[in-house]
Amino acid sequence: MIPPPIDSTETGSDQQDKLAAFFDASITMMEEEYRFEQALRDRIYPNRVAKSVFSRHHPSRTLPGKNAKRERTLSNFDFIVIGAGIAGASAAYELQQQGQTILVEREPLPGHHTTGRSAAFLLDSYVGAVVGSLTRRSRVFFEEPPAGFTEAPLVTPNAVLWIAREDQHESLKEATRSGREAGAELIEIDLKEALAHCPILNQDYVRETVLEPSALHIDVAGLLESFLRGFRRRGGIVSTRAEVISVRQNGEAWEVEAGGETLHAAIVVNAAGAWSDVVGSLAGAKPIGLAPLRRTAITFDGPPGTDTRSWPLVMDADEDFYFKPEGAQLLASPCDETPSEPCDTSPEDYDVALVADRVQRATTLELRHIRRRWAGLRSFVADRSPVIGMDPERHGFFWLAGQGGFGIMTSPAASRAAAGLIVNGRLPEDLEALGLRPEMLSPSRL
Ligand SMILES: Cc1cc2nc3c(=O)[nH]c(=O)nc-3n(C[C@H](O)[C@H](O)[C@H](O)COP(=O)(O)OP(=O)(O)OC[C@H]3O[C@@H](n4cnc5c(N)ncnc54)[C@H](O)[C@@H]3O)c2cc1C
Repeated sequence: MIPPPIDSTETGSDQQDKLAAFFDASITMMEEEYRFEQALRDRIYPNRVAKSVFSRHHPSRTLPGKNAKRERTLSNFDFIVIGAGIAGASAAYELQQQGQTILVEREPLPGHHTTGRSAAFLLDSYVGAVVGSLTRRSRVFFEEPPAGFTEAPLVTPNAVLWIAREDQHESLKEATRSGREAGAELIEIDLKEALAHCPILNQDYVRETVLEPSALHIDVAGLLESFLRGFRRRGGIVSTRAEVISVRQNGEAWEVEAGGETLHAAIVVNAAGAWSDVVGSLAGAKPIGLAPLRRTAITFDGPPGTDTRSWPLVMDADEDFYFKPEGAQLLASPCDETPSEPCDTSPEDYDVALVADRVQRATTLELRHIRRRWAGLRSFVADRSPVIGMDPERHGFFWLAGQGGFGIMTSPAASRAAAGLIVNGRLPEDLEALGLRPEMLSPSRL
């Protein structure tokens, strides 16, 4: 056992702080807005898309015609989305264009769990055809977001530098091969050039290097905030401190109890992250076999007097650790995957010590002080691809789960896939053109 490094201080990520700062200002408004709307319970407004959505999922039942005014109190929605992480927020943003949507979140702040704890990266070399296609399409959104979506850039270029020791030659070869197969540009560079990118590499440790120049850093807090802002601007409702405790089918609609309210909708979207199987069981759905795996991260200072902001993400050829710039600091992870129950997870001393040790071996850095440490749950199903589709037995119960280590970088395309499947029963054409098919995403494949 490697001894834990001295002086490890704060827990929680910078992104969580950034999200808290945004929501401190806006959350009170959200809650007041929701309370105000609840106070207008008796208001009646015309049904919008519910007809097509209902008849698709409840073919034997009908709703009033287009011009009929169906009595809809404000506990009646077209879509209820459970979980305000990146998956739920982006899906709610897309769905609100199609019908009245409410996004319900147990925690006081959206993004509190895995979304607020990521490494904020987009890599084209991520293995898997499905993830690759969703990432490619999401890159277009990140680089050219819709007008008015955000005022600040969502992404900044941030290369990846793959490194290998002498004994990792085969691993680097394989990482390069599979990355190229996934469509990433990967360039073999010599150590001198690698040092120009990251001057702290230990020359006695690193033997070979490969550069992936087109990777991106994502402003996760900005992205989540923009999805939520856009959702609310479109008329969507966010309800925080609203844990979903029951999900029942009642005739043609779903009835969801959350935060002391009973909500009704044609469609329930399960975007509950590590809790997706728990929420699924509330709805009587068969589990998708989701495995939440804990991953640790730490931040620490770079060498004194050095601006590390333009450094690449340095990735070990066996993916045993990585480090990257995080604001003015460096962030590192031991790439741990420890099985966990769904919970508000925290890092173990051992994993913190392990990553500190691996970074010190691979670099000339002496790691005396860890600024922050945290852990988050990356949740995978057996084939490590996302689950986006209607439950095969519980019609109207839609899964948006299993985003593993790619949920941020795939969120724009994954949410459009979800909205397309829910509203039209098919994927958007641009995603089909990339070779994606509903059965590759559906829970029925598991
Ligand atoms: C260390 C680390 C590094 C990562 N790096 C990257 C990266 O570089 N790039 C990338 O794309 N991805 C990365 N990821 C993965 C990414 O963070 C996740 O895939 C993504 O955040 C998952 O989002 P989510 O919305 O599904 O889950 P979450 O953010 O966990 O959201 C689920 C929400 O559902 C809520 N919820 C659960 N049950 C209920 C209930 N009963 N009622 C109401 N609400 C409920 C929870 O409170 C939670 O807020 C990383 C993850 C970690 C931990």
